[in-house]
Amino acid sequence: MSNRQQIDAMLQTIDIECSYTKGFTGRSSLLPEVMEAMRLVLRHDFVPPSLAAMAYENTPLPIGKGQTISQPFIVALMTDLLCPEKGDVILEVGAGSGYQAAILSLLVRQVYTIEIIPDLADRAKELLQRLGYGNIEVRQGDGYNGWPKHAPFDGIIVTAAATHVPPSLKEQLKPGGKLIVPIGQPYMPQELLVLEKDQQGVFCTRNVLPVSFVPLTRA
Ligand code: SAH
Repeated sequence: MSNRQQIDAMLQTIDIECSYTKGFTGRSSLLPEVMEAMRLVLRHDFVPPSLAAMAYENTPLPIGKGQTISQPFIVALMTDLLCPEKGDVILEVGAGSGYQAAILSLLVRQVYTIEIIPDLADRAKELLQRLGYGNIEVRQGDGYNGWPKHAPFDGIIVTAAATHVPPSLKEQLKPGGKLIVPIGQPYMPQELLVLEKDQQGVFCTRNVLPVSFVPLTRA
């Protein structure tokens, strides 16, 4: 199969998974612009060369240092749940390979992403630069504290499982913004939550789907 065919097959699988999980997520399909970003960003650039043949399978893959690039369906769903708009500034906690940041960067004005493991942060930064993503800034650090210098954010996405919602991330979200975060104990099933902040700064929390992420670690 050519890359193009593999990507088309991945998009079909995302559609099918969407219908399977509709009862949880309330979504039978994802935003067309999210699917278009999933079509345009070549996942094989973000996985180790030895796994390139599996790049468009709907599965997480190891990226080194015990970490994983998330399953394409989950990347697409989390992006959709953010309801990204062209002018948005988004914070990601857990840059990993840089794939989720690349998807977001096609949909919003600016993406800031933090990665705690220095090697992965360096690799993501170098890769995203080489691929020409001009609106992503990668920083090494502990994303539990957010990125105060660039706050507040229109949306925040956490791609590692936390035991609780980091208070700084709630503070650094704009009114009207959404925070997407998997919550649970390490290596146990987690729940993907969407927290929405209203104009008064009050949060409404929705439990979307059982998920399985690597843990959010602390510096
Ligand atoms: N979004 C990534 C996949 C993330 S895997 C992608 O598209 O490839 C989760 C990542 O979160 C791992 O790379 C892990 O090192 C990182 N991480 C864990 N705890 C963190 C923390 N406190 N701050 C920032 N990154 C963290």
